[in-house]
Amino acid sequence: MTRTNGPLLRGLVLGSGTSQGVPMIGCRCPVCLSPDPRDRRTRASLFVDDGTLPFLIDTATDLRFQCIREGIADVGAVLYTHHHADHILGLDDLRRFCELRQERLPIYGPAITLEILARMFPYAFQEKGGTAGYVRLLSHPVERSFPLGKLIITPLPVPHGRITTFGYLLERDGRKLLAYLSDCQAVPEEILSAIHSVEILMIDGLRDEPHPTHLTSRQAVKVARQADARQTYLTHLTHHKSHRDREADLPAGIGVAFDGLTIVLD
Ligand SMILES: [Zn+2]
Ligand SMILES: [Zn+2]
Ligand SMILES: [Zn+2]
Repeated sequence: MTRTNGPLLRGLVLGSGTSQGVPMIGCRCPVCLSPDPRDRRTRASLFVDDGTLPFLIDTATDLRFQCIREGIADVGAVLYTHHHADHILGLDDLRRFCELRQERLPIYGPAITLEILARMFPYAFQEKGGTAGYVRLLSHPVERSFPLGKLIITPLPVPHGRITTFGYLLERDGRKLLAYLSDCQAVPEEILSAIHSVEILMIDGLRDEPHPTHLTSRQAVKVARQADARQTYLTHLTHHKSHRDREADLPAGIGVAFDGLTIVLD
C-alpha cells in the first residue's frame, strides 16, 4: 500500500503518561481531577507514519484504547524501547493488525527486550499457523541503523536505572526528523551528537523532582539545548503538575506532549 504526496513523516502521540498513567487510580489530587483533557495521559507510545509503513514505538498497556481513540486501522511494524510493563503490555492487541494485514508483523528492539517478549508471549512467536485471530510476530534484534519504510531508524542506547533502553532517531532524505527518548535518566555524549540539530525531540521529562531512572523536566530542557533540537516535547509525565503549569514553566521551543498530539513534517 504505497501512498504519495503525504508529509515526510507524521507522528501521533498515543500516550504521554508515566507508568501508572494520569489520572492515577484512586488519586484525588488536582491534576488527577483536572477537567483539561491534556491531563489525561495514557502510557507512553508513539504512532509514526511515513506514508508507506505505519508503525508503533512500543505497545503500551493502553494500546487498544489508544488505537480506537485515534482511529488507527493499520500498523505494519513495532519498535520497542525496552521491556518495562508500561511499554509492552499492549502486545496482544497487535493481533488485530496481523489479522487485517494477513501477515506477521516485524518487531525491532534490543535483543534482551525481544527475548523477554518471547518468554512472556510465546504464542505470538509460533512459527506455525495463520494470522486470522492470532498475533504473529517476527523478532528483529537491532543494534545499528536499519531501513524501515522510507526512514532510516537508528537505535539510541540510553541509561534507565539498571537497564539500557533504546531511544530512536528517525531520518529521511538526510534529514534528522525525529528523536524519541521516552525513558532515560541521562543522554550520553555520543547520543547527543547523533541527534544534534534534530527537527523534533520527544524526551522523558517525568517531573520536576529528581528520579533515579528518569530525567527531570529541567534535565530534559538541558538535553534539548545541548542537542540544539528545533522543537522539543516532554513526555512520560506524572500527575505532579498539570499540563498548563508545565507549559508555563518551559522556555520557547519546548512544549509538553499530550495524548493525541500530532506532529507533521513536510
Ligand atoms: Zn516507561
Ligand atoms: Zn494525582
Ligand atoms: Zn521504563
